[in-house]
Amino acid sequence: MRIPFIAGNWKMNLTLSEAESFVKVVRNHLPVSETLETAIAASPLFLPSMVKLSKGSPLKIAAQNCFYKDAGAYTGEVSPLSLKDVGVSYVILGHSERRRYFHESNKMINLKALSVLKNGMSPIIGCDEKMSKIKSNNHMKWLDNPVSEALRNVKAEDMSRVMIAYEPSWAIGTGRAATKEEAEDGCYLIRTTISELYSPKVADQVRILYGGSVSHKNVADLMACPNIDGVLAGKASLNPDNFLKLLNYKK
Ligand code: 13P
Repeated sequence: MRIPFIAGNWKMNLTLSEAESFVKVVRNHLPVSETLETAIAASPLFLPSMVKLSKGSPLKIAAQNCFYKDAGAYTGEVSPLSLKDVGVSYVILGHSERRRYFHESNKMINLKALSVLKNGMSPIIGCDEKMSKIKSNNHMKWLDNPVSEALRNVKAEDMSRVMIAYEPSWAIGTGRAATKEEAEDGCYLIRTTISELYSPKVADQVRILYGGSVSHKNVADLMACPNIDGVLAGKASLNPDNFLKLLNYKK
């Protein structure tokens, strides 16, 4: 069974004290954990404090990126070993903003994913809009396949820890979310790709998320789609009330 997952990606926003007060508010109002898993991806500077404050609550803490080496002469990078050490559970990798502004390649994202898995955390691999509709049958196909490249050498037994986020770049930060049909089409293509790369059984375990202008208005419709197991929200996760509205999408 795939447990629904709703995460906030704060990007380069908030201050340490804002991050701390957010966790203090949200940790006491979370829905029961067996029915929903939740995380916030924050700046590396906030992570140790956020992990401490969320301890004992179902709120997990995520990083937004890391390097693929555990240690060494890599000035300015964040080690996956140090993320594990401070108690981070998930690491977003290959977000479209990382690809666009920092020229991250699928190869690099693949090395990072292997490293995050080796360190016992779960990668959330961002996958941009690199697909188009096949006119004849109305299905989606890849223009370039970021999923198979990002998963190179990832073992089948590790796949239950991997999440893939379908985040069309035209929907990110634009207020123009994909419709539930568009989001479902993208997530379906990702699941089919995993099924072909591994097996239907493996594909059935992997959680696939949608990201791009998610709000309390569209979250329930998105979460109801058969191949969408969760959402990654940017703007709508910056404020505790809005984030809790996402988590309580069933009400
Ligand atoms: P917005 O929800 O602000 O569009 O950002 C989405 C996103 O990038 C999640 O990773």
